[in-house]
Amino acid sequence: MDTICRVCDSTHLELAIDLGHQPWCNNFLKPEQVGQEPFYPLRVLYCHDCGTVQLDYTVKKEIMFGDHTYLSGVTKSLSNHFKNVAHEIDDRFFKDTPNKSVLDIGSNDGTQLKHFQALGYDVLGVESSKTTAKIAQDAGVPTVNDFFNLDVVKRLDRKFHAINAAGVFFHLEELHSVTEGIREALEDNGVFVVQFLYMKRIVDNLAFDQIYHEHLLYYNLNTIEVLLNRHGLSMFDAYLSPIHGGSIIGFVTHQGQKMPSDRLEKMRQAEVEEKSNEFSTYLDFAKRIEQMKVDNLAYLDKAKQEGKTVWGFGAPVKGNTMLNYFGVGTNHLDYLVEKNELRRELYSPGMHIPIVIEKELTELPDIYYVLAWNFKKEILANNQHLIDKGIEFYFPVNPQEI
Ligand SMILES: [Zn+2]
Repeated sequence: MDTICRVCDSTHLELAIDLGHQPWCNNFLKPEQVGQEPFYPLRVLYCHDCGTVQLDYTVKKEIMFGDHTYLSGVTKSLSNHFKNVAHEIDDRFFKDTPNKSVLDIGSNDGTQLKHFQALGYDVLGVESSKTTAKIAQDAGVPTVNDFFNLDVVKRLDRKFHAINAAGVFFHLEELHSVTEGIREALEDNGVFVVQFLYMKRIVDNLAFDQIYHEHLLYYNLNTIEVLLNRHGLSMFDAYLSPIHGGSIIGFVTHQGQKMPSDRLEKMRQAEVEEKSNEFSTYLDFAKRIEQMKVDNLAYLDKAKQEGKTVWGFGAPVKGNTMLNYFGVGTNHLDYLVEKNELRRELYSPGMHIPIVIEKELTELPDIYYVLAWNFKKEILANNQHLIDKGIEFYFPVNPQEI
């Protein structure tokens, strides 16, 4: 293939996982749009030089991030996570820093920055979605409505003590401009907190639904460090958090500033021992995904034959990868039940399953097929009354505890 590695520019790439042609998975459809949505290849390639796994096909970022409907304030566990992150950064690094400041890249509705404001920080968000940026601004969180990159940093012409990027680093089409921008905007003694889905966990948990067009890159520690080092930054600490089913919270500074922590060294070592950055691991992953399709269709077919009603629980963006790859549509699931009211009366892209809002339900299914599996604990706790009534909650992905 003549594709170039997004991280190291190598042309030595090889197909690892092929999920067929899929619609852009955040493209929830109005009734009149059903069947009109475009499909794009969803293929994961492995770079034999730096080990980074990545999509070869890029859906334009203006299509994907111009006006998304994902609001980070919606779920409670995410909001708690944002609060914890703000406190951790402050306690560990900037407790006594005067005039402390923080920049949040992909700041969404400002949920993260509000927690920093409460700790006395001068905050700034950069958010590409117009609707979402306005929600943040209206809530008193200064927000630039743009795609973060080096040009934006030059225009801002200021530096920050802390920079946070949660769940945005795999989206980046302008990877090098963004990383360069972070280095430029980071104070000499500043700390950049990078939060990303941990590919090693995705593989271990068989959570292949995390693969979708918005996620251009899938990192392990080893591979994100290749990128950071290339831009004069280095990681000095990291740990695994349960957020999104398993994310790394990594702490980064200018190169040569800090020694790596013991726990970071241990995680690096585990990647080597478990061959997490080797091609064979991804080929094996692809085979396990195929088997998962067979198993899930068998389960859903059996439920149908027994006359049971099955609805999807949650209409998360990632759920569409699974539904489209499995070929699960209204033949198996009558509805997707969702909390986010921005998705009211929309249809899932590709499989066209109608979305209904959880609190407006007047009846219940026999089985909930849980697409929002990353909130397993929260979902089971909130729905004990339904489980007591005999409603089954089926989790296609069962994440290991962290
Ligand atoms: Zn590479």
